[in-house]
Amino acid sequence: MCGKDEHVKWSILLGRVFGVEVRLHVTFLLLLGFFGWAAWKATGTLSGALAGLAFHLALFGCVLLHEFGHVLMAKRFGIRTKDVTLLPIGGVARLESTGNSPKQELLIALAGPAVNLVIAAFAFGWWWLGPAAQSGFNYETLQGSFPLVLMAANLFLLGFNLLPAFPMDGGRVLRALLSWNGNRVWATQVASNVGRVMAVLFAFAGLFLVNQPMLLFIALFVWIGATQENQSVTTDSYLAGVPVRKTMLTEFRLVSPFHTLEEVSGWVLAGFQHDFPVVAQGEVLGLILRDDLFTALREKGPETLARDVMRKEFVVATPEEPIDRVLRRAQATPGMPMTIPVLSGGILVGLVTAENVGEYVMMAAALRDGRR
Ligand SMILES: [Zn+2]
Repeated sequence: MCGKDEHVKWSILLGRVFGVEVRLHVTFLLLLGFFGWAAWKATGTLSGALAGLAFHLALFGCVLLHEFGHVLMAKRFGIRTKDVTLLPIGGVARLESTGNSPKQELLIALAGPAVNLVIAAFAFGWWWLGPAAQSGFNYETLQGSFPLVLMAANLFLLGFNLLPAFPMDGGRVLRALLSWNGNRVWATQVASNVGRVMAVLFAFAGLFLVNQPMLLFIALFVWIGATQENQSVTTDSYLAGVPVRKTMLTEFRLVSPFHTLEEVSGWVLAGFQHDFPVVAQGEVLGLILRDDLFTALREKGPETLARDVMRKEFVVATPEEPIDRVLRRAQATPGMPMTIPVLSGGILVGLVTAENVGEYVMMAAALRDGRR
C-alpha cells in the first residue's frame, strides 16, 4: 500500500534506508506479541512461539520490501519519500506525490506488488531445489514448509494489494488507467466509488459469510482511504493553477520585532488572525505562529519580544505563482510553516494561510455546485 496519512505519531524510528526514515507503529509491537502468544498457544512450546514470531517478522520484512518497491520506483522519477511506516495492517510509504503522469503513477503502484511476485518466485525456487523431504503446504492450517508458506503469504499480499480500491495499489492502478487520456478528478471519483462498494462487500462478507472480524477492519480502512483520496484530489483540482493572489489574505496585522508577546496575544484574541508576519523597514524578518506564541508565553513570559520567538525559516511566494506549487514547496520541508508571506517586488502584499486556502476551496466548490 502507499499513502500520505499521518502515522508518524506513536511510531518508533528504526533507521534510514536510501535516506528514507523507516518507522514502526507501536501497535505493531502489540500485534507481534499477539502472534507470539497465538503460536505458543497452538504449539505449546517456546520454540513453536519463536518460529511463529520469526515467520511474522519475515512477513513484515516482505511488506517493507514491497514499500521500497514503491519508494525506489518513485525515486527514478525524482519523487522523494518522507517515511515508511509499518502498521499492523501493512506498510505505508508517504511519497511526495503519487506520480506526475498516469504512466508514472501506474509504474510506482505496480512496483510494490511486483516485489511480492519476485519474492514468491524465489520462495518457490527455494522449495523446488530444497531437500526432497520438504513437506508441502496445508491450506487448512496455513502451515507447512517455510518457503511454501512464504510463497503463499506473498501471493496473498500481491492479490490483496491489487484489489482495485484506494488506498490499495490496485486503486492507483485503476485511477492511472482511467486517467490515461485526461480527467484525473473523474478517474479518482470512479476509483473511489469502486473502493467504497468494495468496502461494503468486505463488511458484508465479514459479518454474514465468513466469521472474519479482520474483514470489518479492512472494510473500514478501505472506506476511509477511498473517501480521503477523493477529497484530496478534488481539493487539488480546485487549487491547480490558481494564482496565489486569489487565495491570499490581504487584510492582516503586522508585528514589529520589538512588540511583546503580551501585545501579540492581545491581537490573537481580538481578531481572527493566528499567525503574524514580523516586519521592519518593509522587510519580512520572520513569522509568529500561534502555537509558538503559546509555548513561548508559558516558557519565556509575556515580556518576550517578537524577534526572539519568530520563525526565521519560511517559504515566500509571489502573487502570480500557482498556489498548488507554493503549497507543495512548503510541504516538501518538514516543519516549514504553512503560513506563507506573499511578496511583490520585495514588498509584503499578502499572506497565505491554511484557513484561507480552505475557505477558497469551499467557495470554489460552492460556485461549481451552484452552476450545475
Ligand atoms: Zn503498495
